[in-house]
Amino acid sequence: MLFSKSFIFTTREDPKSAECVSHRLLLRGNFIFMVSAGIYAYLPLGYRVLNKIINIIRRQMEDIGAQELLMSALQPLELWVKTGRDKDLEEVMFRLKDRKERDLCLGPTHEEEITEIVRKSVTSYRQLPLILYQIQVKFRDEPRPRFGLVRGCEFIMKDAYSFDVDEDGLGLSYEKMYQAYQAIFKECGLEFIVTEAESGFMGGEISHEFMAPALIGEDIMFYCPRCRLYLRQQNPCPQCQGQLEEKRMIELAHVFKLGTKYSLAQEAHFLDNQGRLKPIIMGCYGIGVSRLLAAIVEQNHDEKGIIWPESISPFDIEILVLEESLLTEAISLEQKLIKKKKDVLIDERAESSGVKFNDAMLLGCPYILVMGKNYLKSRRIDLELRRTKEKLSLTEEELLNYLK
Ligand SMILES: [Zn+2]
Repeated sequence: MLFSKSFIFTTREDPKSAECVSHRLLLRGNFIFMVSAGIYAYLPLGYRVLNKIINIIRRQMEDIGAQELLMSALQPLELWVKTGRDKDLEEVMFRLKDRKERDLCLGPTHEEEITEIVRKSVTSYRQLPLILYQIQVKFRDEPRPRFGLVRGCEFIMKDAYSFDVDEDGLGLSYEKMYQAYQAIFKECGLEFIVTEAESGFMGGEISHEFMAPALIGEDIMFYCPRCRLYLRQQNPCPQCQGQLEEKRMIELAHVFKLGTKYSLAQEAHFLDNQGRLKPIIMGCYGIGVSRLLAAIVEQNHDEKGIIWPESISPFDIEILVLEESLLTEAISLEQKLIKKKKDVLIDERAESSGVKFNDAMLLGCPYILVMGKNYLKSRRIDLELRRTKEKLSLTEEELLNYLK
């Protein structure tokens, strides 16, 4: 893709509204557009990253046999009355009425709707276990939207729901999901920990949070560098006398063993193998997908810009063409890289090399190739690794081998 023909642009000045590093860099690189406080649009570069994250999630969900669906964002309020959560979530729920004065809300979460769907379709133990998930926009009337994509009023979430015949089944589904979430965050290049958590308004007894250490995190944990252990409370570290460090954490995901809270309230029953009527045992599993983008940038940047992990970078390689006459050569190299399944951005704008280089640092693709004056004579391309700043001078053949 050619930079000059794309909807990619950068801003030199820090936006006034920026509240933290990820917010500032994502706005300066025009990955996102701030529509209003807590409301964002994803521009082509940001949407590329988002889709790569979503593909990683889909692949992991497919591996454990979860099936994707898409529920409605607009929900009748009556669905929420059965569980009493119209009251529990009153303050954060966006409510509205249609022309017939019917009470509706914009879904802040989807336990009620999925339970309603499953209640109507599942009647026998033969249809269980079942894991369903969606990637959907959620709405919450946040008292303090802040830190860009970290806490917004509209955000993208991946929410999964498991349905089992008994507690053992729920245990297996929970374990599968737990493992899949670890694999997802690892593949996204995140440093994270898992910790037992409070279930809050979701209900159920057991829940775990996946947390990423980051300066702007809204949760606080305590880290013992000797035991390499994160603790919820500032209790003395059991194994040693190590000095605890306070760490701020961003919540990436939260998984819950819900049990029968929703199936009892909404009468989601099935007939077991003895013909007895029983409530379905449920679990729910959420990932803040748009928030991941912010968490990844918080953990992967330097003073010049973003350093995307290879798995989710908008482009794998950015080629800086410093001489107009080299554009044909750059396009021929791009074709070879595309055959190797690499996403390539060619910066052929009529800008100085300094501007191109600064923009490449800001946009954060892992491999930056420079084709300058020397290339015609030496036939060697300069490769700079965004993360380590290591520089290599390679022939085209060496380069293609290196990027394999
Ligand atoms: Zn310790």
